[in-house]
Amino acid sequence: MPSPRSAGLIAVVTAMTSLAGGPAHASGAAHASGAAHASGALRQEAAAVAIKEPTNLTELRREAQKAFQGIEDANRALKARQKQFDALEKRVAAKLTQLQGADQELAKVRQPLSEIVEYIYQDPAANSMGSFFPAGDGTSTLRALSDVNHIVAEQNNVVSDASKLLQQREQLAKEAQELRAENLLQEAQLDAEIDALRKRSNTLVKSLTRALVKLGVKVNANNRGTGACDPTRVDLAAQYPNGLLPRAYLCPLPQKGEELRADAAIAFADLNVAYQKRFGAPICVSDSYRSLPEQQAVYYQRPGLAATPGKSNHGLGMAVDLCGGVQIFRSVQFNWLEANSKRFGFIHPDWSYRSPFEPWHWEYDPKVGSLL
Ligand SMILES: [Zn+2]
Repeated sequence: MPSPRSAGLIAVVTAMTSLAGGPAHASGAAHASGAAHASGALRQEAAAVAIKEPTNLTELRREAQKAFQGIEDANRALKARQKQFDALEKRVAAKLTQLQGADQELAKVRQPLSEIVEYIYQDPAANSMGSFFPAGDGTSTLRALSDVNHIVAEQNNVVSDASKLLQQREQLAKEAQELRAENLLQEAQLDAEIDALRKRSNTLVKSLTRALVKLGVKVNANNRGTGACDPTRVDLAAQYPNGLLPRAYLCPLPQKGEELRADAAIAFADLNVAYQKRFGAPICVSDSYRSLPEQQAVYYQRPGLAATPGKSNHGLGMAVDLCGGVQIFRSVQFNWLEANSKRFGFIHPDWSYRSPFEPWHWEYDPKVGSLL
């Protein structure tokens, strides 16, 4: 269902299009490539829906983020379209003003000329040049006649110029109307597209939340708000300084008391399902998000073993410290994670193999995650 606003716009466009006697075709640059691109994205989106609905957490997360990105793209296209339209309208208005100026100039010439011609045709005396040109020899009469012919020809030229100007103005007015109709149509299409994407994104986030709840995640633990596990809010979460993420941006893990940023938490919950299938028990987590004071405490208790406060990925809600065997380098659990965690967006960073050696430290890498 289009929003009332979209419906209104579509009605206006339909009316304007039928007035114009067919589909609106504004000239040249009026066709926004951004709008065409956004429409294409929606069709792809629709095709993807028809082919395959997301079946696991990672797919749900990806599709929700994609739909949300689509909203941003469509909004950008809408703004670009409006800017382009404003520029075109300004150009049309300037051209119309210019034509009006030419019209006025022409009127100034036309009036005296037509008065002269009228006078010549209406006054027989003038025809013999009696009053208009002083009587003289035959040469001057001939010259006078030639002058009259010239004036009449000039008058005809002016009339022809005036009708050309009128044609130009009519053409321009038609183009301006088509431009407005085209703009309204594209705006309505983008509006409808944004509506559809927003609905899809919301539906996917709801499905994702339900799936997390099923896995034992208390999404609203400590009244953080149900949006804490919404992966479309990670850009907002990323704006907070290290160790100062508000609870509303931290999604609980199935492991009680642990939490990560939404995208990392979703990836971890999915990884946890695979781990449990392999080992018959959930992943053992000893640490996850660390607030700045917590990171400071760890730093001073284990100097050299914890990152400088304000620098750790724990403070971004992206890192976990694991136990249950993973903390032992080359254990079965460590090796399994090393081989499988990338499928979920988790990595064991290069530095943690050596300096400092931390087999227990694993991180969510959004770059790896975005490719899933
Ligand atoms: Zn760590």
